[in-house]
Amino acid sequence: MSGGAPRPRKFAEAAREALKDSQLRRNLAKATNTIRAKRSVVTSELPDWQALREAGRAVKAEVMANLATYLERLETAVTARGGTVHWARDGAEANAIVCGIAASAGAREVVKVKSITTDEIGLNEALAAAGVTAIETDLAELIVQLAGEPSSHILVPAIHKNRAQIRALFLEGMGLEPSELSDEPAELTAAARRFLRERFFRAEVAVSGANFAVAETGSVCVVESEGNGRMCTTLPDTLVTVMGIEKVVPDWRAMEVFLQLLPRSSTAERMNPYTSFWSGVSAGDGPQAFHLILLDNGRTTVLADEAARQTLHCIRCSACLNVCPVYARVGGHAYGSVYPGPIGAILTPQLRPSAEADTLPFASSLCGACYEVCPVKIDIPRVLLHLRGRAVERRRRSPSGWRSGEDAAMRAAAYVLAEPRRYRRAQRLARGGQGLLARGDTIAWLPGMLGGWTRTRDLPVVPAQTFREWWEARP
Ligand code: SF4
Repeated sequence: MSGGAPRPRKFAEAAREALKDSQLRRNLAKATNTIRAKRSVVTSELPDWQALREAGRAVKAEVMANLATYLERLETAVTARGGTVHWARDGAEANAIVCGIAASAGAREVVKVKSITTDEIGLNEALAAAGVTAIETDLAELIVQLAGEPSSHILVPAIHKNRAQIRALFLEGMGLEPSELSDEPAELTAAARRFLRERFFRAEVAVSGANFAVAETGSVCVVESEGNGRMCTTLPDTLVTVMGIEKVVPDWRAMEVFLQLLPRSSTAERMNPYTSFWSGVSAGDGPQAFHLILLDNGRTTVLADEAARQTLHCIRCSACLNVCPVYARVGGHAYGSVYPGPIGAILTPQLRPSAEADTLPFASSLCGACYEVCPVKIDIPRVLLHLRGRAVERRRRSPSGWRSGEDAAMRAAAYVLAEPRRYRRAQRLARGGQGLLARGDTIAWLPGMLGGWTRTRDLPVVPAQTFREWWEARP
């Protein structure tokens, strides 16, 4: 089984396709509106919410400024408690380490919890190539895995599916008869529980992600709502955690801040139903082998860019997705990455640069709603603008860049707008040439690449007399 890695695509093309799916838009609107309303209730009841956000931002900024120190401290603490720390430069290295651990444990199946990071590196596919089946145990992750689709939301990966669609997937994926399962939520979750419980009990190896890791004591943390994380991190004999290097926090005081910020911003709960911490191994209790894989995979490059470094502060709460007017209409698959929405629009082009990823920073109206809800105050609009500038520069420097129509149009606009005289002359020329195209006060069609503008909006005609001309003509 595999959830299927998202295919990198230009955002505008993928979005156009997603917009044709009205069921998707209905599912998204219902889910994001509900989470948004609940989130706003639980955040407004804390009088120090803004101070908490600022504390979260400050802790993250300090960690990024001293990342090497905290990671080494974490490694020492995990090792001292019987764990093994591995350093992985990229996804291939991390996958090879996990496959090696599964092979030495003799496992043909691993259970997985909470790990968008393993989706980022395509771990399920790598395990499948090594003859090991990965079973996703979060209910929503299981749904998208049975559908053979990538997640479409960080927190609610199956947000694009309704219960009738889920029932159909369960019937096929779990080998059930139609009479055995209705589309009642209680029946659907009971079926998933039975299916997963069998796998929890027979699994020898579990793979988890990490929400945080406390450098002070080497304690790794996973927060979740279903209890599947607790099963994964306690039942199997071997536990492997794949963690992005940015997830380290200095100490337990920092956890006090993040454990208030995260549940309220993500599931709109005051506290997560399950918050699991483990520090190394302890004899006769839980997994007897613990491996922590510290993954770079582009993160140190992000760290080196001071203007975009704050992207690494993200605690993957998904609040920015739920308020984004673009995400709410196109859903997660249009972003062609495991990281959708506003955070995906800034993280993907940095972690996985490509011509397709360079289109993501333009997938925003720059309304700023994402910044307002972000629990660690990541200034997403500012980073979007920075990355837009970088994408334009890259295109310009490419062999065909200087010949692109958009670049030529921008250069022409810059030349005309730089001088009032040139601008007035251009207005006079446009007034003379617009006769054939004008319909009343507007132009609804322009030829060639200019048609990109009039495809979705009208252009007002240049008036017979501009304000300046009227002003100058006054007695
Ligand atoms: S960018 Fe902020 S709001 Fe968005 S997922 Fe990350 S922490 Fe949450």
